Order: sequence, then C-alpha cells, then structure tokens
Amino acid sequence: MDVQDRVSVATFRSVGGTTTRAVGNHPFDATVRFPPLSTRKSANMPPASPALPVSVAIATAAIGFGLIATPVTSANAVDQSPPPSGSPSPTPTSPPVSTWPGSVLVGTSVRGRPIYAVRQGNPNASKILLAVGVIHGNEKAGRRIVDAVRATPVSATGDVQIWTIRSMNPDGMAATIRRNARSVDLNRNFPTGWSRKTPGAGRAPASEPETQALMRFMSQLRPDATFVYHQDWNMVLGTCNWKTRSYGLRYAALTGLKRESCGRAAYTGTMGSWYNSNFPGYMLTVELPGTRKVTAGRVTRWRNSVLTASRELRDVDPTPVTPLPPTPDPGVSPSPSPSPTLTPQNR
Ligand SMILES: [Zn+2]
Repeated sequence: MDVQDRVSVATFRSVGGTTTRAVGNHPFDATVRFPPLSTRKSANMPPASPALPVSVAIATAAIGFGLIATPVTSANAVDQSPPPSGSPSPTPTSPPVSTWPGSVLVGTSVRGRPIYAVRQGNPNASKILLAVGVIHGNEKAGRRIVDAVRATPVSATGDVQIWTIRSMNPDGMAATIRRNARSVDLNRNFPTGWSRKTPGAGRAPASEPETQALMRFMSQLRPDATFVYHQDWNMVLGTCNWKTRSYGLRYAALTGLKRESCGRAAYTGTMGSWYNSNFPGYMLTVELPGTRKVTAGRVTRWRNSVLTASRELRDVDPTPVTPLPPTPDPGVSPSPSPSPTLTPQNR
C-alpha cells in the first residue's frame, strides 16, 4: 500500500532525446469539469525550483539510452518549475508506436523473469492507456484486472490503445513478498524524491532492473493515463494532487473505490511521483481492497473502469514515441529470454 502522488507537477522536459511539451487538456473528456493544466498551474503552483527535474531528466535520458542511472540527489520531490515556453514541436525521428509489436519485452527482473507489455486496440491510436497489475509482489489483485482486460476485445479502429503489464515485480510476486529479489521496494526506487533514508529505497535511484525497465518503457510509450494497482486500502490515490485530482475522482467513481483522504505525508521515490513529474500524462495509484473482497463481480467492474477510462481518454501527450525492438510473444516463447532491450544499437 502506498500514499503518494502528493507531488505537484508542471514541467515536461526533454527526456530520452525527444522533446516533450505540455498540453492543457485533462485526459478525461468533457464530463469532467476541471480547468486546463496551464490554468491550474498558474492558480495553484508554488514557486519554481528547477534543480530536481533536470537531474531526473538526465537520469531518465541515461536510462532511456540503456545506461545505468546515475544517482540523483533529490531532497525535494516537487517539480515546480514552469513548462518551457517556445519549445519546438516534437520531430518524429523514428518509427511510431504503431510499428511496435503487440507484445513487448520491456525488461527482466533481478532473477531474469521477463516483464512483458501487451497492446490491445488500435496501434495507430493517439490515445494511450497503460495498466500495471502488480508492483508490490504481495498485492496481486490487480493482475486479475489485467487478465480481464486482456480477455476483452478492444476495437482495432478506435482511437485508443491499451497496454497492460501483469506484474513489474515478477520475483516478488513469485515469492509473495512486497519487495523485489534484492529486497528493494520498487515503489520507493524511482528517482523523483528518492531518499536513501527510506527503508527499501535501494542503493541508488532507479538501481533496480525492474524500475529501469518501466522507466524506459514509459518514457518511450508516454501513456496519457496509467493505473498501477496496489492493496489493500480500497481507495484511489492522487485525488489530493492538483494535477491528477479530477482524473482520480473520476476513476474513483468508475471503480467504486474511495478517494484518498488528504493530509498524509508523501512517500519518496514513487512511480507516480516520477511519472507525474516528468510527463504530461496522468498516473494513478489504485489501492484495491483486501483479497477477500476482490470478488469476480468487482473485478468485472474494475475491468470496465479501465475500458471506460480508455474511451474517455484525451490525448494529453502528442509527443512521438520512439521504437521498441521486436520481441517474442510470451505465449509463443514462454522461456525467459533476458536481453538488453531498448539500447541505441537495437532500437
Ligand atoms: Zn503497494
């Protein structure tokens, strides 16, 4: 379980060699009443503090190019600097996401277990949703949502593509432990706000292969919305964060989960802080209830929530994505095949 995403965010920088830009649209459609991003930023954002996001961007870029992340000093998780003005439009320099295979090996765990992402829907769609079933290995219920989504046909002619990852912590899931095989809490290992004082944070920001894999993948896919499932608080987090608030409220209504009660301390090095701080897209940490309350009926509702969210999605990040190399379909080649994916040589 996690409380996180209390991080105010406004800056979208050059990451992984592509120029990013902010778009003032909320990812959900007009049924959600909320001022555009630029308005919310000017109304609510605290003063600028540009030191951290630059470091994070450098670390992210290094990871994006297959390098080991350099340590990022980050006592302050808040990215508060204004978006760059007059940024050039992104220039496609590589094949679009539509050329990616429908099943992508995004990385491997400490023990060499593969982490696959699977696409449904229209590969040419501009709107991209990502759902990650498991990050803490003893919080497995989200995998059932992913499986249910994968079992449901998604239109190949609509304007949405749904990507799903069953678990980004396959070692922890196999052992039914929260952390990964090196006893690192992956949701404390991301570089934004990382603190070595936090138990399980790892030896350095993004020190773990699972963290690096998701950072590479998400930096290239750049989903407009991401859901990552936890247990067992029975609430949608991010509803206290100015950036994700309305999105979180809508998702809470769709899922029947409670909204986060505001005022708790934020955690360090979380995936949501990293993504929401560095990309236009929205990431929500979704705390499902305890496993005994994860009924088939609720799994169906939560699956439908993902599908509804995908239909309501707006394209908040038009930045061209960078290519991924072809990888074997997990159904065809189930054996782990650790390979250094996403390096400049093979992308
Ligand atoms: Zn958790």
